[in-house]
Amino acid sequence: MNLAREAIELLGQVARILWFEGTKHGMRDREWMALRFLFRANRFSRTPSALASYVGTTRGTASFIIGELERLGYVERTRSSKDKRSVMLSVTQQGKKFLARDPVNGLVDAFAVLDDDSKLRFRDTLRQVLDQADAAEQRHHTDICKRCIFLREDRTASENKSTVEFTCRLFRAPIAEAEIELLCTSFEHHRQ
Ligand code: SF4
Repeated sequence: MNLAREAIELLGQVARILWFEGTKHGMRDREWMALRFLFRANRFSRTPSALASYVGTTRGTASFIIGELERLGYVERTRSSKDKRSVMLSVTQQGKKFLARDPVNGLVDAFAVLDDDSKLRFRDTLRQVLDQADAAEQRHHTDICKRCIFLREDRTASENKSTVEFTCRLFRAPIAEAEIELLCTSFEHHRQ
């Protein structure tokens, strides 16, 4: 038995839960993927072009998906006060509530019953596989800021407290502690 092939075959069947024909609760699979992503993405990635790159589609198709999500009241766009051409997307309260009906929630529940060690091993294995595939294909997958090569961490310690500040060396911008767990399409992992 080839264990690697068997694992990938099973992963393919799991993917069928993510990718489906037609709609579920009124939305297509790509619209669900976009809503899920925008909820978890950092401020640099909540843009139409980052969304297109994450979903793996053209800017035109991403724009159609955003239009649908706006029409349903799940996403809103704001224009930057500095650059009127720059658009930031955010999930509305209604959109956050609607995520309770996400078709992948059944899958999340199935993983949730595993013990913490199994969950960590599964997550880390998927990351390792993605990192290796990235290296082989010269690309970058989307991942959390905390793991990114561009994240700088500055610690300062005074008499009775220590503080930590994060900066993104790519965007030259401060990163709040709460943001380091968010997804970024410009993520780059540490290569060996
Ligand atoms: S440090 Fe990396 S993941 Fe974080 S915002 Fe910058 S490019 Fe994105």
